[in-house]
Amino acid sequence: MRILLVEDEEKLAQSLKKALETENFAVDLALDGKKGYDLAFGEEYDLIILDLGLPLMDGLQIAKEVRAEKVTTPILMLTARDTLKDKIAGLNTGADDYLIKPFEFEELLARIRALLRRGQKEPETVYGVDNLTLDPTSKIVKRADKEISLSAKEYALLEYLLRNKGQIISKEQLIDHVWDMELDPFSKVIDVYIGYVRNKIDKAFPDQKPLIRTIKGLGYKIG
Ligand code: CA
Repeated sequence: MRILLVEDEEKLAQSLKKALETENFAVDLALDGKKGYDLAFGEEYDLIILDLGLPLMDGLQIAKEVRAEKVTTPILMLTARDTLKDKIAGLNTGADDYLIKPFEFEELLARIRALLRRGQKEPETVYGVDNLTLDPTSKIVKRADKEISLSAKEYALLEYLLRNKGQIISKEQLIDHVWDMELDPFSKVIDVYIGYVRNKIDKAFPDQKPLIRTIKGLGYKIG
């Protein structure tokens, strides 16, 4: 899942980006409101974490414009200002949740997971298909009760496919939702990572049916 983080306190922003990446999220960082606004409209995100007080354009204004353009990406607002008025203003302009600084990273993570579940047609706490399961809380992936060890990107790729099981997912969608904007869109990295994930969840289980299908010219599908 790919997150846009708009936060002007650089130290906090960098440490949040790093912490979220270790949780297998792809994170693009904007250090001012203008850049945050441009990215929110120029790229695809699964969630936006938006600081309220920002240089060039504040968080309330960004949320308002994003919602005015009918972008439904969940927005989690961050603020140092612990007043009811700010909270109401934030929620009225289209933020989906609110977190007051300073906060524990675990709290942020719990809110992020709740918001990402909310966007699902059938919210699930554990994703799965056939005898493969992925638990986003513990990050444990199992097939036929055997635990499978995946790298961060392999995990993120599998999670995205499972969250969209039964649907054909294009390479462009994987680039948009699993990688951050550093990825060259013409690179072969998607095929390479699909290969890695296949080795671990399909080829390592030769007596089970393969789960990841290549839909020629369109993308990939699980389930
Ligand atoms: Ca700020």
